[in-house]
Amino acid sequence: MDIKYVPTICPYCGVGCGMNLVVKDEKVVGIEPWKRHPVNEGKLCPKGNFCYEIIHREDRLTTPLIKENGEFREASWDEAYDLIASKLGAYDPNEIGFFCCARSPNENIYVNQKFARIVVGTHNIDHCARLCHGPTVAGLAASFGSGAMTNSYASFEDADLIFSIGANSLEAHPLVGRKLMRAKMNGAYFIVADPRYTPTAKQADQYVPFKTGTDVALMNAMMNVIISEGLEDKEFIEKRTKNYEELKEVVSKYTPEMAEEITQVPADVIRDIAIKYAKADKAAIVYSLGITEHSHGVDNVMQTANLAMLTGNIGRLGTGVNPLRGQNNVQGACDMGALPTDYPGYRKVADQEVMEDVTCTWGCSDLECEPGLKIPEMIDAAAKGDLKVLYITGEDPMISDPDTHHVEEALNNLDFFVVQDIFMTDTAEFADVVLPAACWAEQEGTFTNGERRVQLIRKAVDAPGESKYDWEIFCDLAKKMGADPEMFTYESAQDIFEEVRTVTPQYAGMNRERLERPEALHWPCPSEDHPGTPMMHVEKFAHPDGLGIFMPLEEQGPMETPDDEYPLILTTTRILFHYHAAMTRRAATLDREVPTGYVEINTEDAAELGIVNKEKVKVKSRRGEIEIPARVTDDIVKGIVNIPMHFKECSANILTNAAAIDPKSGMPEYKACAVAISKMEGSK
Ligand code: SF4
Repeated sequence: MDIKYVPTICPYCGVGCGMNLVVKDEKVVGIEPWKRHPVNEGKLCPKGNFCYEIIHREDRLTTPLIKENGEFREASWDEAYDLIASKLGAYDPNEIGFFCCARSPNENIYVNQKFARIVVGTHNIDHCARLCHGPTVAGLAASFGSGAMTNSYASFEDADLIFSIGANSLEAHPLVGRKLMRAKMNGAYFIVADPRYTPTAKQADQYVPFKTGTDVALMNAMMNVIISEGLEDKEFIEKRTKNYEELKEVVSKYTPEMAEEITQVPADVIRDIAIKYAKADKAAIVYSLGITEHSHGVDNVMQTANLAMLTGNIGRLGTGVNPLRGQNNVQGACDMGALPTDYPGYRKVADQEVMEDVTCTWGCSDLECEPGLKIPEMIDAAAKGDLKVLYITGEDPMISDPDTHHVEEALNNLDFFVVQDIFMTDTAEFADVVLPAACWAEQEGTFTNGERRVQLIRKAVDAPGESKYDWEIFCDLAKKMGADPEMFTYESAQDIFEEVRTVTPQYAGMNRERLERPEALHWPCPSEDHPGTPMMHVEKFAHPDGLGIFMPLEEQGPMETPDDEYPLILTTTRILFHYHAAMTRRAATLDREVPTGYVEINTEDAAELGIVNKEKVKVKSRRGEIEIPARVTDDIVKGIVNIPMHFKECSANILTNAAAIDPKSGMPEYKACAVAISKMEGSK
């Protein structure tokens, strides 16, 4: 019996680990880590090791489904296409919205946004970066001219100091966590700032607990110390940046003593970490959703950029500003233009010249220059009745978006709703039509990981039943709706990628042969003789004048603060064994490891409330309430509680606040909302 090994990339987080799918009798029966893969070097985390367990599940979607009288029935593709085409054609384009799938290959996402823009005529197209790293895209683009990780993962190993803020890498991005640990073993000093004493914080040389949502004040005070001590990199500031005097004026107010009041970090600790960061020859900043998922997420991101530019820690190995991206292809989804403001390659839809150039390449007539709606705006518009039709590919907002009751209200209010996925998710249950899609192991294409590395994925097995690739479905629909077939006819994913290269300048130099190498290519790679760019901003920033821009910022704090009725701040997180819900909760091994959720509460807070470990409690916010077991621990700052976001039966997002939105990016404030915890009625 033949066994074959098919090299591909992990479908979960943005680290982008290489793996071999072990195929026997046309079934994926196991995983072998890719030994010489440059990212993971023969290792995988539990999520990667067991990702194959979902591929051949009995509950995969295998045929189109149409809802009639509240029940789904099987339908033919033609019947489903006819229904969708008639509905998409019956509404004003501004009444229709699309959520793209950041787990899907670039080629699928590219065709999805092209379909939305050309065939439907809307820029109401977005994806889950809005709910994780939207502030990174906006914040780093404002500071550096490009909204992506500045260095590669390998670069961490050259660092003398790593400042990790709002990132629990060992759980959320374990193979990056491994590189950070190796850097520490090589002598890098490892500082972790986090309201929770996470597994990553436990490995730190210095752990700095601070009050959630006070990142701007903390970093302003660090910059205040650096400038007062004369430790700023004057030459770098002079030659490579602008707006320094404005920054200096704002941070001058934020003495460590003032910041102590806001952040709860002792002033001498702020002085100490600021001096250590500034004195290190090569200091890298690592951050993740603890920075971005706030109503001032863009400000937090720009503060990390300010700190790096102030000390000249950019454009060299071992330095940089390094956001750890969430979904396996969320970087690619941004690159492919699954954004209401941007065509592929971050070219602005509002720019008339860009529009003319893109439409010329696509061979279509003029498109709108008015940007579309972001995900939270589409949900709000649906709840109000302004958005009538929604088409979601591979997202599950009933689990992952804030304020579940608000999402439910929006989905119930739609005239027509399509979901395209691999399982019947909690969101798909609301749909009028559900379309079965192929999963990552069943198709060719590319994923772009968090360090901008574009990697090939390869088909190991056929998709079940009548499932199709996302790109095939959008091409079929385009033709049904009367689009020029030439614009939507592709032989293969490779064929699509060749078109991607023509409209995405960062990908222009990436041909198949170059991507076949294990190290693949980092964008920007503008021509076939360009080596790719593992490290950005070496001599100049990506702004037209080549300068980085200091952004002076004032502390804002969370929008919803504790009061007598809701005295605690809730933060939400991911854990080592789960990745959202639809996939890892269906992987039996991972589900066994952590079968349900819990609320972490500080030991003193629990004692005041009379709550003991493992006791089921009620957690309530202004949006709703859940019942959930308590995990009493000293690993979280007093006054803050934490709930992992994966578990429908005690879903954190019933409590989170969809109304607290970062005005600069549309990011909802997942990391801070006010809650109350109480004992269950009748419990002692
Ligand atoms: Fe997959 Fe991320 Fe784990 Fe690597 S670290 S195996 S990419 S989930």
